[in-house]
Amino acid sequence: MNITKSNTGDYSSSSGEQDILIIDDTPDNLRVLSSILARVGYKVRKALNWQMAFTACQTKLPDLILLDIMMPEIDGYEVCQRFKANQKTADIPVIFISALDDVFDKVKAFKVGGVDYITKPFEFAEVIVRVQNQLKLRSAQVEILNLNNQLEERVKQRTLELENALYKLKIEVRSRQELQNKLLENALRDALTSLPNRVFFINRLEQALNRTKSELDYHFAILFIDCDRFKIVNDSLGHLVGDELLIAIAKRLQTSLSPLDTLARLGGDEFGILLENVSDIDMVTGIAERILNSLAQHFQISRYQVFVNVSIGINWGNLNYEKPEYLLRDADTAMYRAKALGRGRFHIFNPEMHKQAIKTLELENDLRRALERQELIVYYQPIICLKTGSIGGFEALVRWQHPTRGLVLPTEFISVAEETGLIYAIDTWVLKSACNQLRIWLANSLVPKNLHMSVNLSAKLFLQPNFLAQIDQIIYETKLNPAFLELEITESVIMENSVDVKTTLNEIKQRNINLTMDDFGTGYSSLSYLHSFPLNTLKIDKSFLNLMQKNHQNMGLVPAMIGIAHSMGMKAIAEGVENSEQLSQIKDLKCNFAQGNLFSQPAPPQHILDLILSNPKW
Ligand code: C2E
Ligand code: MG
Ligand code: MG
Repeated sequence: MNITKSNTGDYSSSSGEQDILIIDDTPDNLRVLSSILARVGYKVRKALNWQMAFTACQTKLPDLILLDIMMPEIDGYEVCQRFKANQKTADIPVIFISALDDVFDKVKAFKVGGVDYITKPFEFAEVIVRVQNQLKLRSAQVEILNLNNQLEERVKQRTLELENALYKLKIEVRSRQELQNKLLENALRDALTSLPNRVFFINRLEQALNRTKSELDYHFAILFIDCDRFKIVNDSLGHLVGDELLIAIAKRLQTSLSPLDTLARLGGDEFGILLENVSDIDMVTGIAERILNSLAQHFQISRYQVFVNVSIGINWGNLNYEKPEYLLRDADTAMYRAKALGRGRFHIFNPEMHKQAIKTLELENDLRRALERQELIVYYQPIICLKTGSIGGFEALVRWQHPTRGLVLPTEFISVAEETGLIYAIDTWVLKSACNQLRIWLANSLVPKNLHMSVNLSAKLFLQPNFLAQIDQIIYETKLNPAFLELEITESVIMENSVDVKTTLNEIKQRNINLTMDDFGTGYSSLSYLHSFPLNTLKIDKSFLNLMQKNHQNMGLVPAMIGIAHSMGMKAIAEGVENSEQLSQIKDLKCNFAQGNLFSQPAPPQHILDLILSNPKW
């Protein structure tokens, strides 16, 4: 049996019978042995010395060698060593043959590589058994080698597979990591402007707060920026232009900042800036001014030239803040104050403002409940016709019957109602109540039929799309003749948005409803502007009546204001008449109507009915 290694790496014995090479210098021995083995079925070759044996192995490798020890020139030990030294023949098992009387060194035989020995004279059965054993052993060895080889191959294969799987896994992990990074990035960025978003900004604020705790000379400040009247841009030019404008604003803001500062879009038209390493508040206000100046330049968005103002709230970071959100909240509050003070400016937060903001919030909540629980009531103040000296009408003035605070005046809650939008519900409710009230009074046969009702309307209502429809509905429901209704508006209505407001005011006029300009003289509208609106009456603010001196020579602006009303074809009402001197002065000036505590303070309906029925004259 020859052991060869196939292409696939398997060891195999060559096909056919097993091949045994006998090396012995005694031809008799050779003959006897070969005949024994041939009889059993082995193929036997013979060699008389090393040379012949070597040649035989060159031709074909035997499966087993039987080797005589005692040979001339090269003895069996040496032959065996030579076989073992050769890589090709090293694995072939060698059984030594020795005569009983030979000086046979068994230990040496095994040392040089022999696997067994047979003694002469040969015991046939023994020879066959020993040969068979060695060949079986050899087969088993080959089998093991093959299995080993297969195992090695499998390990190699498996290692390769594992390496491939590992490589794929690495790619998968990397792509997941990239995806995760991208998601994280998206979660922290504003999609429109690519600026950091609110979450990111709050994170940075938190880091800044932590630094103030550990580094004594580290200071920071934040700016809360809100665009003024951005909604108008969106509503009039469309959201696409609005979006482009926001991108342009973001870019311009960035140019006002150093690379160390963090600019973020907080949402809508709001931006936040974290200024780090600032030494004092002057540095911060300087940056705020730079921002205001840079935004004062117009923006060219496609074919539109757009102007944007911003209001900026400033908050100085300090250790008192536990959470970054509170820092931002206070900057927001300061921004609102900047807006309230006239927009297009900055304002620095102080803790008083926070208390005020909380009060406003409480008031807002209270007011919401007040509406639900119907705690609002309407008082009426008579308006006197100076020509006849009797009551010509009333102004409806809202009051809040607060469960714990008592009667709350509108000056305390109207501005909050306007800020929060509750004013829509309040004003339409007052309008409806006042119209109802007048109808009830007019239903009384003793009440004169020419009484008017004046109702205050906030400028905010004019921005409501269904405003006219609501007025129509109320007129329809209360069945009041619109000619007896007067709506009091302030100059801010006219200043808000001229084209739309003019249309609305004309619509009101067409319904035969009268329009009064309230608090005349306290706003900023120019006279020519005023002239182009369909107003019936100018109501002179009570501050001008207060300024009138007791002597007739110095009556301040009141005569001029009455003159303006008359020259524009309008009636004049003097508000805040508190004494008879004022009354006689305005009578002399041919003022048409008067209202004030001299006649009556605003009062509940029953009180007013009594007053009407007493038919007073002034
Ligand atoms: P206004 O429309 O100018 O109302 C006149 C205010 O002057 C009333 O204050 C009235 O009580 C007060 N007043 C009248 N005569 C005198 C006087 O002789 N001396 C003094 N010192 N004050 C006099 P009131 O009721 O506190 O209302 C304040 C403001 O609240 C109103 O000013 C009006 O702008 C607003 N308001 C009142 N009710 C409503 C309402 O239902 N809706 C809206 N949007 N605003 C309202
Ligand atoms: Mg009024
Ligand atoms: Mg007024």
